[in-house]
Amino acid sequence: MDRKNTIMIVDDEEMIKARLRDVLSVEFDVVSASNGKEALELLADRKKDIALIVLDLIMPVMDGFSFMEEFRTHQEYANIPVIVATSNEDEYSEKRCLEAGVWDFVMKPYNPVLLQFRIKNALEKSRMIIAERDVVTGLYTKFKFYNEVRQMLDELGESQKFAFVRFDIDRFKMINNFYGIREGDKVLISIARELDRISKAFDNFLYGRIENDIFAVCMPYKEENIELLAKALQINVRKLNKDYNIKVSCGVYIINDYSIDVSEMYDRANLAAKNCKGKFDENVAYYDDSLIENMRQEQYIINEVNKALEEEQFQVYLQPKINLVTDRSYGAEALVRWKHPERGMISPGEFIPIYERNGIIGRLDQYMWRHVCMLLRKWLDEGKNPNPISVNVSRVNIYNPHLVDILKNLVTEFRIPTHLLNLELTESAFMEDQDLVMRSMSKLHKLGFKIMMDDFGSGYSSLNVLKDMEIDYLKVDMKFLQQDTEFNGKGEKVLTSVIRMAKWLHLPSIVEGVETIEQVDFLKCIGCEYAQGFYYARPMPVEDYEAFIAREEEMEAKNVKDDNAVIVGELWNTRSNVSIFFDMLEVPIAIYEYRKDKLELLRANSKYENEIAFEKDIGEMEHNRRMAAEHDMLKEAFAKIAAGDFCEPMEYEVSDDVWYRITVKLVGRRSDVMIMMATFNDVSEYK
Ligand code: C2E
Ligand code: MG
Ligand code: MG
Repeated sequence: MDRKNTIMIVDDEEMIKARLRDVLSVEFDVVSASNGKEALELLADRKKDIALIVLDLIMPVMDGFSFMEEFRTHQEYANIPVIVATSNEDEYSEKRCLEAGVWDFVMKPYNPVLLQFRIKNALEKSRMIIAERDVVTGLYTKFKFYNEVRQMLDELGESQKFAFVRFDIDRFKMINNFYGIREGDKVLISIARELDRISKAFDNFLYGRIENDIFAVCMPYKEENIELLAKALQINVRKLNKDYNIKVSCGVYIINDYSIDVSEMYDRANLAAKNCKGKFDENVAYYDDSLIENMRQEQYIINEVNKALEEEQFQVYLQPKINLVTDRSYGAEALVRWKHPERGMISPGEFIPIYERNGIIGRLDQYMWRHVCMLLRKWLDEGKNPNPISVNVSRVNIYNPHLVDILKNLVTEFRIPTHLLNLELTESAFMEDQDLVMRSMSKLHKLGFKIMMDDFGSGYSSLNVLKDMEIDYLKVDMKFLQQDTEFNGKGEKVLTSVIRMAKWLHLPSIVEGVETIEQVDFLKCIGCEYAQGFYYARPMPVEDYEAFIAREEEMEAKNVKDDNAVIVGELWNTRSNVSIFFDMLEVPIAIYEYRKDKLELLRANSKYENEIAFEKDIGEMEHNRRMAAEHDMLKEAFAKIAAGDFCEPMEYEVSDDVWYRITVKLVGRRSDVMIMMATFNDVSEYK
């Protein structure tokens, strides 16, 4: 048990002393004196004991001011805080008291609660100043260290360059929590011993423990020395504590301004250290002025948010999702964009992470949900039949106890069928408190919301989670494949199995970040259901999205009206009527997919297979040459049609004296994929 601190009350009024004694004796030992002279005698007697003095100013024999004058001359009392009791009458005495070295004031008559609070603060401060050595590690305490650094820099700062290094252990709290304070202390002590060892290698090497797991070093600056220090700490401290996989993060401020306080140097090193927190391979980061600039930026973005929400500077952009079977869009994801009145567009990458860090994202999310509901309402009112729009739900909201109510109220307010508002929950958020997440998801499901797991594969989640969670769609980011720097096909295999497994669980997958036709082909080939990405469309303002949908619908309508239109989807189904009919036709017909100058035969009827594709007795070489010629001819024709030009029927010789006239038609179009039909009429006789 800690010994009680002793407090000395100096006051001439017995009543006051008695009352204070009552109040303070619960937590402190209390001694008292009736005037300055008595107080000085008591002090001389019990020098070591007295931790704090509460001093009245006006007293007989020796008043408070005279006491302070004498008290101040004793070096050994330097760290004993004095709190003075003043009354309103005497304004000028406060200044005089401060000059006399008083720490703090309280108003008379005393408010006991306030006085106790002041006493505790003063004691804490003095305790820190008194202690030169940290109890756990034996290193300098923060105050001692700062003082030593100040002295060293004042003496030597002119003649050489110094660096201030601040470091700590990533996730040190976990060690304390899991293994106990004692184990935590052991780690701290091992760091202290390592610092002792390193210090022998340098001159003018000062070090101390700032607080908790934070240490600081001030040493002459040379880049290689800093690297040496960081390496030695990292490697040896890890060696000494094999069980914990320790990572040390060092922030370095190369001191170029000796006029600033040591605490400010610490702040700068601290700011730098934040830069390497959580990164596996970096444990040293240097301060530079841009860090301050970043911090200012960050503050700006935080300060602006209220105004931006009020003035509706945030806008909903929509990125279509494409059904890979029909190549038509099926709904969209709502993504926030910030149109700042002075700065123009600010990308989500600049503000989302900041808002995530301090929880503001919760409000931004809700703003987006509301605007998406408003939009859906508008479409419904216009008599449209919108597809679902998905919104992002960030971690704070996933753990918001009112999440379900908030969403329920929103869809009720705007009379939105719940299946039209899909929710994207980021994968990493599933991991923290699975029970809680599962409970809210289950409630949301009951209300009819559809839930997507976003960014699957980006975090640490195991596939195992999937089977326990009530998820309706899996969103996988294409980028997660590109994390392999080398292209070695591994990523593709992983994606293939992820999608296959999702199928087993009856989970449709959406792959996002799809940028190239090769990726599209690959995804179709492995049976992925939906895609989202720049290849199809970038996130766009609402008006553009409406135009996009209108164009799609127009296309659809046009194709249906076309006499020669073939229901392409039906053709894939080999047993459908269309398909059977197609095969029965006495004219060779082939259906191609044409996209960005690439031509692919999708389907041909039996007549085509027998008459044209079949290699007759002309030899393989010749056959191939003719097929290639046909291919080129079709490509040219398709290019014309794709550009909106008219294309005349073309005639060509399939084999000796067998001539065909090819007629080409556009039968379907989904964004930039065109489905073309070519019919081959035998015109040999006429020829
Ligand atoms: P996300 O939810 O995974 O959204 C997909 C991001 O990928 C979007 O970035 C989108 O523009 C981008 N993207 C789409 N297609 C492609 C592509 O083909 N290639 C590449 N490289 N990128 C593509 P954005 O809009 O910058 O948003 C980034 C992240 O910020 C989002 O990732 C989401 O986590 C967050 N976010 C965006 N809007 C909101 C919002 O309203 N609320 C919340 N909570 N988070 C949001
Ligand atoms: Mg998303
Ligand atoms: Mg995503």
